[in-house]
Amino acid sequence: EPELSDEFKLLLSWADETRAISVRANADNPGDARKALEFGAEGVGLVRTEHMFMDAARVPIVQEMILAESFEERSAALEKLLPMQQGDFEGIFEVMKGLPVTIRLLDPPLHEFMPDKEELLVEITKLQILEPDSAELKEKEHLLRKVRQLEEFNPMLGHRGCRLGMVNPEIYMMQVKAIFYAAASVAEKGITVKPEIMIPLVGHVHELREMRQLVIDAATQIKEESGRDFEYTVGTMIEIPRAALTADEIASEADFFSFGTNDLTQTTFGYSRDDAEGKFLQTYIERKVLPENPFAVLDQNGVGKLVEMAVKLGRTTKPSLKTGICGEHGGEKSSIDFCFRMGLNYVSCSPFRVPLARLAAAQATIRHRKPAETVALNA
Ligand code: PEP
Ligand code: MG
Repeated sequence: EPELSDEFKLLLSWADETRAISVRANADNPGDARKALEFGAEGVGLVRTEHMFMDAARVPIVQEMILAESFEERSAALEKLLPMQQGDFEGIFEVMKGLPVTIRLLDPPLHEFMPDKEELLVEITKLQILEPDSAELKEKEHLLRKVRQLEEFNPMLGHRGCRLGMVNPEIYMMQVKAIFYAAASVAEKGITVKPEIMIPLVGHVHELREMRQLVIDAATQIKEESGRDFEYTVGTMIEIPRAALTADEIASEADFFSFGTNDLTQTTFGYSRDDAEGKFLQTYIERKVLPENPFAVLDQNGVGKLVEMAVKLGRTTKPSLKTGICGEHGGEKSSIDFCFRMGLNYVSCSPFRVPLARLAAAQATIRHRKPAETVALNA
């Protein structure tokens, strides 16, 4: 467990006095949230809710949800998941004690929750020989058919992100209710949270409009049920070039933008974020085709231009639009410098990179603050 020395903490406190951009952390559970706070994060910039579904005890219920043949079957699985999700969010809200928490609705490659196809084939072959009439064999064959139905040639360009919410809004509905129930429950303990609900992989304003309406509907329903009023915001990831190019339209439905520069790098370059590093990227860097790995250091000429464009277009529609970054680049020095120059309100990175981000944010502020602002600050 790395610990910060007192000297380093002092240095960080000076950095905090100087920097004019917030630092948040990405955290998916109370343990990470605690680490984030310890390292000085001022909020959670990204809760990846798909990680909550990967818990071994939950995978069978998630499979039940994916494999459901009817709306009723799916609703039954979702009803089991709702209290679990509520508990997940309560845990994070309690640790963060009212600091901002941005929760991203499910962004899964669904196939990741399904059993391995090869293993399933082996089991089926065994059963075909040993127990050809068994119910187990029928069940496994059914499962295999479903796994094959879910298979995609390009899963990262497939049925992911809000596309899932568009096709199966009941899944997002369950999550949003869990978020609001969790907020209500921590409110009883004196912790006020204003959840920030984030829609992933938006490429068209219509997607955000529909998903935002879903959030509003859930809020209205729960407000009526509980007789309580509460606040929340709805925003979007900007991680598809089309979202950046039409950010003026998208901003009309968004309270905030968070740049998902992992996917934005993948889709801007057309490089698979899961494969490129192991294939050609090294050669490209060695031959100086690229100055560095664009998945680690923000490509300011390409991806950065989309970020710049999106901030400008978004704030033309909505001057108060809050903006941040939650891709890997949010914890990298030169990328943080870039984010500061673009006028982002915060960067969000993994908890362990928070101290470095606080320093980099202060350096960027010193480097680029206009003289008048510096004078005012020192006065
Ligand atoms: C991103 O794409 O940059 C992002 C933060 O989301 P994820 O890495 O979960 O796709
Ligand atoms: Mg993404």
